[in-house]
Amino acid sequence: MTSANYRDEFKSVIQKLIDSPDNEHVALTNFIRNEFVKSESLMDSVNPATGKPWIKIPNGTATEVDSAVAAAKEVFRSWKNTTVQQRSTLLNKVANLIEEFNDEIAVLESRDQGKPIGLAKVMDIPRCVQNFRDFANAALYTLSTSKILEQPSGKCINYVKHDPVGVAGLISPWNLPLYLLSFKLAPALVAGNTVVCKPSEMTSVTAWVLMHAFKLVGFPAGVVNMVIGEGRSAGQRLVDHPDVHLISFTGSTLIGKKIQEDSAKMNKKVSLEMGGKNPGIVYANYRKSDIAAIARSSFLNQGEICLCTSRLFVQRPILEDFLKSYVAEAEKFTIGNPSTQVQIGAMNSKVHFEKVKKYIEIAKAEGGTILCGGVKTVLHGCEDGYFIAPTVITGLPDTSQVMTDEIFGPVVCITPFDTAEEVIERANSTSYGLSATVWSANTDELLNTANELRAGTVWCNTWLARELSMPFGGCKQSGTGREGLHDSLHFYSDAKTVCVNLAAKY
Ligand code: NAD
Repeated sequence: MTSANYRDEFKSVIQKLIDSPDNEHVALTNFIRNEFVKSESLMDSVNPATGKPWIKIPNGTATEVDSAVAAAKEVFRSWKNTTVQQRSTLLNKVANLIEEFNDEIAVLESRDQGKPIGLAKVMDIPRCVQNFRDFANAALYTLSTSKILEQPSGKCINYVKHDPVGVAGLISPWNLPLYLLSFKLAPALVAGNTVVCKPSEMTSVTAWVLMHAFKLVGFPAGVVNMVIGEGRSAGQRLVDHPDVHLISFTGSTLIGKKIQEDSAKMNKKVSLEMGGKNPGIVYANYRKSDIAAIARSSFLNQGEICLCTSRLFVQRPILEDFLKSYVAEAEKFTIGNPSTQVQIGAMNSKVHFEKVKKYIEIAKAEGGTILCGGVKTVLHGCEDGYFIAPTVITGLPDTSQVMTDEIFGPVVCITPFDTAEEVIERANSTSYGLSATVWSANTDELLNTANELRAGTVWCNTWLARELSMPFGGCKQSGTGREGLHDSLHFYSDAKTVCVNLAAKY
């Protein structure tokens, strides 16, 4: 198929979903051996802005996962023996196709996830394109090493070859659907693995669109497979399947730990990106012009980013002024139908909405003061949607439930501190260690604090600035392993040392 033809076909797949009528929902399928295969049973997927179902998705079964794994296993050897240049070329074609339909895919991501369409257009979909492009290109120049070993009998040359691991199981969450799934798919494929993905059952639509891109640009059948469904059935089967040699998981700490336990029985290679309770530390001399960036670090994407700041430690002398400016910033966020130009859309699901609401009630019960925020009513068809305004809480002890549990919504607790030593100790005092921010005009203060924080990423006077070649991941209960251009390519491959005796005569 020429690229002109497949662009038209891709466009029509997306358009059909965008135009999906309210009373006749499109039914998604699994994707196995380049075929879009109906699932045994379907379930509703809800548009979080309206609270109403808008599409039907597979409730993938263990048998469906088995069939996807069998497909991936069958073609593993032939895919592994393609050249990295061939794989890289295909990934670049996927990147180009997604980039061309960036804005249309953003419509779907926003409708399915609840995030503002403007954010999906400039963050989620472009990052998916970057993931495919960067890994496609980086893999061409991966680290390879060789060394001559000298011994009395002669010389041996040692070289290291990076072999793909096998069939990779890729399990992703609902907060950044395409962004995070593509961050797994791109390195897994370019390294020569075949894959079965299991996107979140809350947000499967853009993953399904992506499967069309793989097929259309010419990926061989069986290399990429997807089963849509619940974690406890489809996800669990992928983890338990003996022919799946590697699991890459992004999601909650609870499920991540279970996956680690289950995978250990078969000694699978596992990467876990899990939850967080990220501290932000604001020193008295912070640059006042950073106030909007500090607020953004708590509320972007409705606070549904694992890297959002949820505990804000503010040095005591500036506390009162800071609270005034911060609440003013929080109240500036526009909230509403995510398909319009707002900054805060809907929480992803009713269950999650209820959970965040419950934590705001717990905060009150724990003696906290709610300075702003809470549930927000949105009109014009969104009356039953799941909206929560940026919520700022003070007066809670570090040990309270709201200060220790991951809430994963637009909720931040602010608390004062006196010294650097004290705040470092308090910031490190949760079981999580994903990321942290430090805000100060003093470089020594920034670097000394960053040095002592136990987190996978520390941002100083900025937030969410991500260079893909840097390692990304969590400490403590926030994760195991690192992802990034080099780390991911290592994770999705096994280094093999080959030793050749140069003096041998046959
Ligand atoms: P979740 O753990 O409920 O689900 C994540 C994925 O795992 C989903 O696809 C789900 O269907 C699947 N799953 C659930 N049970 C499973 C099982 N028994 N076996 C196999 N798969 C199973 O998480 P979520 O609610 O979708 O996402 C929110 C969480 O993700 C938050 O805790 C957030 O911090 C975390 N997160 C972490 C990162 C990171 O990079 N560290 C990034 C994004 C989100």
